[in-house]
Amino acid sequence: MEKLLSLIDSLEERHALSLTEYEYLIDNRCPEAARLLARKASVLRRRIYGNTIYVRGLIEISNVCRNDCFYCGIRKSNRDCDRYRLSPGQILECCKEGYSLGFRTFVLQSGEDPLLTDDALCDILRAVKKQHPDCAVTLSLGERSRGSYQKLFDAGADRYLLRHETAGKEHYRKLHPPDMSYDHRMQCLQDLRSIGYQTGCGFMTGSPYQTASDLARDLKFIETFQPDMCGIGPFIPHKSTPFSHMPPGDAALTCYLLSVIRLIYPPVLLPATTALGTIAPDGREKGILAGANVLMPNLSPVSVRKKYELYNNKICTGDESAQCREQLAKRMEAIGYEIITGRGDIIKTA
Ligand code: SAH
Repeated sequence: MEKLLSLIDSLEERHALSLTEYEYLIDNRCPEAARLLARKASVLRRRIYGNTIYVRGLIEISNVCRNDCFYCGIRKSNRDCDRYRLSPGQILECCKEGYSLGFRTFVLQSGEDPLLTDDALCDILRAVKKQHPDCAVTLSLGERSRGSYQKLFDAGADRYLLRHETAGKEHYRKLHPPDMSYDHRMQCLQDLRSIGYQTGCGFMTGSPYQTASDLARDLKFIETFQPDMCGIGPFIPHKSTPFSHMPPGDAALTCYLLSVIRLIYPPVLLPATTALGTIAPDGREKGILAGANVLMPNLSPVSVRKKYELYNNKICTGDESAQCREQLAKRMEAIGYEIITGRGDIIKTA
């Protein structure tokens, strides 16, 4: 226990540990360490962001995907997936509704849909920015060429989320088919950053075959890359994937890592994810209390929410988005936090 506590102190001071130290932190996780980490993470988060929580409206624009990631419910081999693609008009309508609900960031997420061409996306981006010049747009459309990322940036995109999925190269191969590459995914993250996007990485906790050493690599990667955003959530099996019988990740490990990530890079925008809210009824509250400061409620048209099924039992697929946001605001108030209306950019302090 003593060693664990001194590692936590040193993480708080230096915002860095060695790979073996990170691994020790993960292997020796216990409730007491989790409480201590959460306390320290909350202090750091509060110093930068006060008690405010940023919200983003998530719009799932297409579930068509050319990839076959073993864990994902919208993988191309899933014949049971009912495919859809929102029209530009539908996307603008979602933004309009979101705007009236107080959202000032829209996250456009999709599978790697070949029909979402640069031209089509640039038109959508320009229209959203024209309709809502005071809003930020985050893209989460998977791997594209550097030229494509540049065009989308020039058309007005502000941020890009691309989870690295795992910083263990071997582990990456166990989660993805051979035509997908760890190096390419990492290259995309470097490209996004150098173009000027606020860039987000991330990974699933408890994904199949994940070891403490893989997680230590994830933490080391976050320490060196210093992402503006970092999405982490538990793996949840989907019945029509090769990983249907794999056990889900757990909320406690996710929260533990949220705290560690807050200590590694205090300004990071850290969502309490929908997957965390799915695995535990109070998952998002727990995530916030562990150091997260962002929520991403679903703004997609209710008619498609069930179709964008990365994993089974996803929450908020039936609710009206208005209800969802109000309910979330109340739930956050109950734990002492306040959802604010604003773009919610990262605050980098010296
Ligand atoms: N096509 C985009 C968006 C992917 S969906 C891209 O490649 O970035 C967003 C994230 O959902 C993925 O990065 C993955 O980490 C997560 N995800 C996919 N399947 C999941 C599952 N079964 N359980 C939990 N999270 C999952």
